[in-house]
This record gives sequence, C-alpha cells and structure tokens, in this order.
Amino acid sequence: MIIDKPKVRGFICTNSQPEGCAANVQEQIDFVKAQGAIDGGPKNVLVIGASTGYGLASRITAAFGCQAKTLGVFFEKPGNARKPGSAGFYNSAGFHAKADAAGLYAKSINGDAFSDEIKQTTIDTIKEDLGKVDLVIYSLASPRRKDPKTGELHSSVLKPIGESYTAKNLNTDTLKIADMTIESASEDEIANTVKVMGGEDWELWIEALANAGVLADNVKTVAYTYIGDKLTWPIYGKATIGRAKEDLDRAATAINAQLKGVNGQANVAVLKALVTQSSSAIPIMPLYISILYKVMKEEGSHEGCIEQLYRLFTEGLYTSTPRLDDTNRFRMDNLELSQAVQDKVEAIWPTVTEENLFDVTDYKSYNQEFLKLFGFGIDRVDYTNEVETEVDFNLI
Ligand code: NAD
Repeated sequence: MIIDKPKVRGFICTNSQPEGCAANVQEQIDFVKAQGAIDGGPKNVLVIGASTGYGLASRITAAFGCQAKTLGVFFEKPGNARKPGSAGFYNSAGFHAKADAAGLYAKSINGDAFSDEIKQTTIDTIKEDLGKVDLVIYSLASPRRKDPKTGELHSSVLKPIGESYTAKNLNTDTLKIADMTIESASEDEIANTVKVMGGEDWELWIEALANAGVLADNVKTVAYTYIGDKLTWPIYGKATIGRAKEDLDRAATAINAQLKGVNGQANVAVLKALVTQSSSAIPIMPLYISILYKVMKEEGSHEGCIEQLYRLFTEGLYTSTPRLDDTNRFRMDNLELSQAVQDKVEAIWPTVTEENLFDVTDYKSYNQEFLKLFGFGIDRVDYTNEVETEVDFNLI
C-alpha cells in the first residue's frame, strides 16, 4: 500500500509509515554508533515499554552502544493488508532488522505489561534465551491499567490537585491559542492515576523477576519521570501525574531493599520534556515544548530521546560519577532546568500569540518531530513507494 500522508486527529496520528519508522530507528542507531562504545555497559537487557519514545531509545542505546542482547515488551498493533499497524510496531520491526543484521540478539513480547501472563512469558523467555538480565528499564506510559489481582480497570487523569488551573493552551489541530481551564482532580482520580502511572507495577515486575531468579548480580533497574519547573508544575509536577511519579521514588526505595541479595540498584531517572506520543496528550505541553525547543536550539543544548538516553547510560547508569540528586535520582533534565533556559522560556510564554507562534516558538520543529514519531516527513523516505504493512519479526 502507499502511505504518503499522516492522518492526524487532535493529538494523535491514526496511521503510520513503516519505512519512515525504520528510518527513524536508523537515525537513532547512527547517533549511538557515532558516539562510540559505552564502557562497562549491560549484557542482557529487558526494556518494558520498548517500542516508542524513551523506551525505544533505551533499547537502541543498550544494543548499539553496549552490544547488549535486548528483550523488549510493548503493546502495539500489527498491520494487515488493508490497514497499517501502530508506529511502535514498525519501530520494533525496524529495530529487529538492524539488530539481526548486526548479529545482536533481539526478541520482543507484544501484550499487556501490567498482566501476570506477560510477566511470566518474559521470565520464561529470559530463562530460555538469556539466563539472567543485568538491566531492567521501566518505560511504560499508559492511560489505563488493569490490576492483575483484582481485575479492576484503573484510568489515569491529567488534572491539577487542590484547585482548578487556567492556562494558555495551543490546540495543535487548529493552531488556536486560548485559555484552558482544567478542574482539579478528586481523591479517587488521584488514587487511580497513582495506580496506573505510579511505582506499583515496576515493583511487581522486579518482584516477579527476582522470585524467578532471573536477575543477575549487580542488576540495575531504572524508571523514568519528569519534574519540570514553574510553568508545567500545575499540570505535571504538582498535578495527578506528578503525584503518580512521586510514587516511583517510594517504589525505588522498596526495590533497593528487595535487591540487596543480588547487590542490585534501583533509581528513578529524570528526563527532559520532548515530543512523544504520551507528552503530546498533556495540556500545555505542546506549547511549552515548542518554546523549549526554540530556546535550547538557540543555545545549542537541544536533545532528543536518543541523546538523553546516551547520557543516561554514560552519565548515570555506567559511570563511577553519576549525575545523582540528593534523593538518588539520575538527573538528565539538567540542561532543560538550567536557570538561563527556564528564564528565557518564562519570558517568551506570555508573549506567544497565534500570529507569532512560528517566530517566537519552534512549533515548526515540534510538529515535524510529532509527525516523525509516526514515520512521516523524513527526507530519505520516498513516500510514493508501495510499502509492506504486514511485517514479521522475532515476536512472541
Ligand atoms: P511513549 O508513549 O512513547 O512510550 C510508551 C511505551 O509504553 C510504548 O512502548 C508502549 O507500547 C508501551 N506501553 C503502553 N502501555 C502498555 C501496556 N499496557 N503493556 C505494554 N506496553 C505498554 O512514552 P514516553 O514519552 O517515551 O514515556 C516513557 C516514560 O518516560 C514514561 O514513564 C514517561 O512519564 C517518562 N517521561 C517522558 C517524558 C516526555 O517528555 N515524553 C519526559 C520525562 C519522562
């Protein structure tokens, strides 16, 4: 089939371009290879949430920066002859093709990571193929979670806590900018968001892997968070999602206690804001990120997922002088949160209008990056070519 145009509705793109997705993966592989091999990196890596965004970049860094064997878990839609699958499916197909060509072991499991079944399939696969894993990356972003014990479905919300919040918002569909008011969350909504995006499932994963004896001595595990600054606190840091993310710190402490026997280490890693399928759904984030891109590109400190992940491996996970804060979190958001960058972003924020959007912000790059997530707008892809939508790779 020929897939030459994105179909965007609101903050989602409902189709994807397999060749573009593979090209996107290749670009990230090229970046990692150009940086050179990572000393002391992991050998066998499990990435939970491995198909897009930060999880995909983690997998690419482990494989192509450390020559690690990687097992990826994700929840993606395969394509068929009539309809393309999800971008994450084609990213993974692209990753597998490149890993195979480089002689690197790669296997992927497509299913609900919150379920006991997928945890068991993962453990069985580790036992059969890898023996043990020495790095577990937890990079899930999901709007809902079915509790494996009770069967109850929990949904998260993106709402402020305490009082309602009104802020300037960019509608990425219409490019209209208008004030948007979001009502504050109820206690129940807060609890449900923590249930979905908090640390409970990370703990369940590590508990299951530890009980099955598949964690190597000195194993490391890391889960990702965002903190941000004043502009985003009301909708992220100090809102429902921020409350859920605080729960990761609690989970990291509990996991560290659990991993004592294998001398393991659990950390939360704070990453920067950038365009992914998840962040584009968060109110005010598209405008904040568009301004951030403008400021960080101008000062030469702009980074995407792969740059952040390469730094997490070399300045966080695999160095004797990790960039840690006083609560044991790896801080890869240091450039975004520098005073100079935040001051500039805050100064631009009130001046943005529909008329000057493309001048005072880098919305152009935001939009290009968004479309790229689905394989569109990539120079070296000829979108007039027929592409195969049914693809096969080493998938369970
Ligand atoms: P993303 O949407 O690109 O990736 C989410 C991944 O989770 C995908 O691989 C998807 O298949 C997988 N997934 C979702 N539900 C699943 C399920 N039930 N079972 C199995 N897999 C499932 O998201 P992202 O932005 O890369 O976020 C990853 C993590 O990084 C999140 O914890 C997020 O909060 C954090 N983070 C994101 C940003 C940002 O700006 N995007 C910044 C800092 C931290």
